This record gives sequence, C-alpha cells and structure tokens, in this order.
Amino acid sequence: MKHLDKILFATDFSESSDYAVDYALTLAKKFQARLIIIHVINEPVDLRGFYVPHVSFENLEKEVEEGAEKMMQKFCRIQLGDFTEYESVIVPGIPYEEILKKADAENASMIVMGTHGRAGIDHLLFGSTAERVVRKAKCPVMTVRLP
Ligand code: AMP
Repeated sequence: MKHLDKILFATDFSESSDYAVDYALTLAKKFQARLIIIHVINEPVDLRGFYVPHVSFENLEKEVEEGAEKMMQKFCRIQLGDFTEYESVIVPGIPYEEILKKADAENASMIVMGTHGRAGIDHLLFGSTAERVVRKAKCPVMTVRLP
C-alpha cells in the first residue's frame, strides 16, 4: 500500500462528520500524515443577484463565511485536540465537486467522510455527497457510517 501522507477530511459539521473525523485523526496519527479539513459552503450560483440585490447578497455572503469559519475553528478545537498537523479550508461551491477538486489539487492519499450529513434541501438538489465522491474520486475513500 502507498504511504498515506495527506488525508482529506470533509465535514459538514453534522453528527455524522463529528463521528467520522476520529477515523481520519487516528489514521493521520498512525501514518504521520497531514490532515486537510474541508468544508464547502453550498452556494447555488443561480441565486446570485437574482432574488437578492447585489449589496445585501454580499453582506449575507460575508456573514455566512464568518459563521462557517467560526464553526470550523470550533470543530478543529473540539475534534482534533492537541493534533497540530492539519490545515482547514472553506470554499464555496457544490460539496462533492469541491471535495474532489481539493483531493486532486493536494494529491491526497485518501478521503475520509461520513455517509450521512445534514438533511435538507441540499440533498434534494444535489443528492448524496458521499455517493458521488466515492464514485468519482481517484484516490481511496473511507466512508464512516454513524452507528
Ligand atoms: P451526504 O452524502 O450529503 O449526506 O453527506 C455525507 C458526508 O459528506 C458528510 O458526512 C460529510 O463528510 C460530507 N459533506 C456533505 N456536505 C458537505 C459540505 N458542505 N462540506 C464538506 N463535506 C460535506
């Protein structure tokens, strides 16, 4: 097996990814790999400037980004404890596309993610993120199901 040097972990801040991150962390420690934690802000591009005037949309976007950043910091503090070999990234877009893009860009050895995330409109629009990542990723994907 190839050495694992970079593990990409995708979080939507759901209970499912809180549970799955332990697997990513254990692997990272065991293989002395670097963890990259990604969160994707679901941002349907079509809504931009259509329903909401430009200025207020920009404010909304900024607030969403700040909120996501705070959640990311909390997630890393609580879930990663004293582990420091990680970086976190927040990007807008469609989750499965951005997860795959990041895995490619970083040449990730493996992706770890939950099998379920937050239920809601995202699912209706985009289907299962885990399913799509598993189908299209070039590297191995570990999916972790909440018991
Ligand atoms: P889903 O298939 O959408 O129910 O989500 C399954 C898993 O995909 C979650 O447990 C996360 O690991 C990942 N995921 C879903 N949405 C996002 C997102 N917006 N950003 C990062 N990862 C996500």
